[in-house]
Amino acid sequence: MSKDLRTYLQQLQERYPDHLKIVDKEVDPKWEITAMVEKLRREQNGFPAVLFCNVKGSNLPVLINLAGSYERLALAIETNVKNMVPEYARREGNFTAPKEVDRGEAPVKEVVWTGDQVDLRKLPIVWHNELDSGYYVDAGPAIVKDPDTGKQNAGIYRHELQAKDELGFMSNPAHHGSYVLRRYREMGQPMEVAIAVGHHPAWPMAGVSKLGGIGGELEVAGGLLGEPLEVVQGETVDLLVPARAEIVIEGVLDTDPEKLRHEGPFGEYPRFYTGVGLMPWLKVTAITMRRDAIYQTVFNAHTEHTCLGALPRMGSLFRRVREVIPTVTMVNLPVSGMGRGHAYISMKKARDGEPKQVAFAAFAVDPLVKHVFVVDDDVDVFNEEEVLWCMCTRFQADRDLAIIPFALDGHLSPNNYDIDRDERSEDRHKKVMATKMILDLTKPAPPTFYPTPCAVPEEVVQRADTADLKPFEGLEQILRPRTA
Ligand code: MN
Repeated sequence: MSKDLRTYLQQLQERYPDHLKIVDKEVDPKWEITAMVEKLRREQNGFPAVLFCNVKGSNLPVLINLAGSYERLALAIETNVKNMVPEYARREGNFTAPKEVDRGEAPVKEVVWTGDQVDLRKLPIVWHNELDSGYYVDAGPAIVKDPDTGKQNAGIYRHELQAKDELGFMSNPAHHGSYVLRRYREMGQPMEVAIAVGHHPAWPMAGVSKLGGIGGELEVAGGLLGEPLEVVQGETVDLLVPARAEIVIEGVLDTDPEKLRHEGPFGEYPRFYTGVGLMPWLKVTAITMRRDAIYQTVFNAHTEHTCLGALPRMGSLFRRVREVIPTVTMVNLPVSGMGRGHAYISMKKARDGEPKQVAFAAFAVDPLVKHVFVVDDDVDVFNEEEVLWCMCTRFQADRDLAIIPFALDGHLSPNNYDIDRDERSEDRHKKVMATKMILDLTKPAPPTFYPTPCAVPEEVVQRADTADLKPFEGLEQILRPRTA
């Protein structure tokens, strides 16, 4: 059987049985679902995904926090946390064409609502953080078609519930969905959209991958799965949608620049409520789903948002920066940069100047990368203390720091600015710039002398046995007459 959310949950139960919990008690989709996840985070006693089976106002269960741990995301690509970045990169680069199936073989067509039957309010859409403007669909990559090439692109955007058949559409202006939208706007045409909610984690991760050019996410999903993503023709839109998704929401976006509506706020990846203002919206034309569909959501501005956004970006950076400098050895996007803003990149440096080239490549791959720290390959980029140790011992700010003001970033960072350097403006459409920084924390290229870091011989450390340690029971234990 082809892979989907259900095969993954089975795999999760076998590999990490404590990683999925069920709640039978009735919960309100407004705050009560996310409150449980926040409680789990505070208790630090495992951080499972949770399936809420009894959600007020809907017959469908809600799955949340599935992407809230790197163990679970690594499992989705059949590896562990230590190896997840190169493995993600390897699978991402293995583009695999989707396979079209007939609707009879597509579970997502078991239930089809069109016309007056369309009612988003019957789905257990969640209100996540206190000051969010309402209920948001936030876990399904939205598929659109590039009108110039016919290629389908998929990216995760936020979709505010606005009416029974109306959903907001807010995408980062630097992301492909916005490029496609602006192209339809130039052509004076509407844009068809299909949001596929609930699938194997390979699907949302593919939606985050930073690929060269518009499109390719369905092929990346196949690469991550290790088999073609099964797709089926949309019900009311000319798009191929994942056949084994739990739910697909189809709609049409009026790209008339006057057809905008107030949207937000919503807790965003920097963990602030950002990005409020006028945005287009979707008229929903169909909802299709499995007979026993599971609705999935991502806890925004929380651990799940960070992890889901970070692993695909790390894999993409690792793959694409190595296309520029092949001696890059590892990439980490740490939590201190929300899994976006700080890039810690290690490399086996042979020539001075290479670290800047690495940083240029990282900026080009992802506009949300703000500060690039390049270290030598003897440093573990997953150990933030080691990275900052290099900042103290291998870096001089007047020589090794480069600052690039007025560069493209995202519109959701609280201190990003516009061309007039206004950080306080509320016009998010203009506040897409940030100041980028490159920190070259590497030693001078060989053969220049550089002192050796201190260490006990590794082989002797291996031989040391902590079983030789005994409790200290008093001075009499050690203070006794000794003969020379
Ligand atoms: Mn894309």
